[in-house]
Amino acid sequence: MAQHAGFNTAGFNTKAIHAGQDPDPLTGAVIPPIYQTSTFVQDGINVLRAGHEYSRGSNPTRSGFEAQLAALEHGAAAFAFASGLAAEDALLRALLRPGDHIVLGGDGYGGTNRLINHLLGPWGVANTAVDITDLDVVAAAIRPGETALLWVETPSNPLLGIADLAGWAQLAHGAGALLVVDNTFASPYLQRPLEYGADLVVHSTTKYIGGHSDVLGGAVVAADASFRGKPLAEAIGYQQFAGGAVAGPQDCYLAARGLKTLGLRMERHGANAQALAEWLREQPGIAEVLYPGLPEHPGHALAARQMSGFGGIVSLRFAAGEAAARAFAESTRLFALSVSLGGVESLVCYCSEMTHASVRGTALAVPTDLVRLSVGVEDLADLRADLEYGLAAARAAAGTVLSGA
Ligand SMILES: *Cc1c(COP(=O)(O)O)cnc(C)c1O
Repeated sequence: MAQHAGFNTAGFNTKAIHAGQDPDPLTGAVIPPIYQTSTFVQDGINVLRAGHEYSRGSNPTRSGFEAQLAALEHGAAAFAFASGLAAEDALLRALLRPGDHIVLGGDGYGGTNRLINHLLGPWGVANTAVDITDLDVVAAAIRPGETALLWVETPSNPLLGIADLAGWAQLAHGAGALLVVDNTFASPYLQRPLEYGADLVVHSTTKYIGGHSDVLGGAVVAADASFRGKPLAEAIGYQQFAGGAVAGPQDCYLAARGLKTLGLRMERHGANAQALAEWLREQPGIAEVLYPGLPEHPGHALAARQMSGFGGIVSLRFAAGEAAARAFAESTRLFALSVSLGGVESLVCYCSEMTHASVRGTALAVPTDLVRLSVGVEDLADLRADLEYGLAAARAAAGTVLSGA
């Protein structure tokens, strides 16, 4: 009898739609129901019908989403949390002890920096921020016997730097440390860090995985590895259960639904972003377009090797500086002025004051002439027309500044 191969050998989109998403065995509903319940009836004391006892420990809607994401990241297990930062916090507290040290990619999500410095710091966890593109700098920051984690985000936020994942993994493992990769910007469709030796992947599922700006969530995906004598999946799973920052069933349903179309959306995000980046760099007033899909980007060749596309985030720097950047960000209409990214709708962000205000005035501050675009999946001509409008406003603001008015 032919044995069904399951989803292990299936392609990305097939897994995205089917892994962990079996039809409901009771009714045949093709879409598994949202198990909106806190607790599960027991058939005898501690006799569980399907392994579920209480929804902080596990819930079928959450388990389905976790299985779907683990399959796509090629991980041993995935764990869903109430937000990206809740996922990061759980990971850090599951694995670290006072006295540990983190080597932290310098150009990362402002909230990750805040979490590690302001919440973990007082509990005795130190960190060193590094240039993610320079492996010598990363190596020099490692403190033998103290460094427990290397943490990197690639492409980075908002400068779109590219880190060499295999190189980072080698440095981490050489020091007996783990490599954690925030894969939010690339998503598993474009990049699977565990394949390059990372031990853990974190996501803000609020972004591309949810994909529609209608849900907050986070996830940790663990490789089949151990740390301090314990399997990573066991350590993270215990923290999820005992710490309790879980994602609820409605949120897991929305994230799972989004994840099914991730591949389709990333193709379109990437095509729109590439076209707009190429167009933007020809426009007067633009000093630099930061997008790894441009051949002149310093990480282009590396990104082409370790990613299967360049993603939907483009950052711009304005020759006339802050006034032009601010005017641009406040003038576009389709590109809504907003924090966050990764939804089907286009967004524009003035990062130095919005997402990265927590690192203002430090070495990690974001340039004030920079604007970040989260390029959505709308029609390209409409997006370009909207950016043209923003560029005209930026030039008008620059002219005002230059003429001293
Ligand atoms: C948004 C984001 C986070 C934090 O996720 P939340 O869901 O907002 O808590 C972490 N990392 C990156 C790269 C992000 O963009």
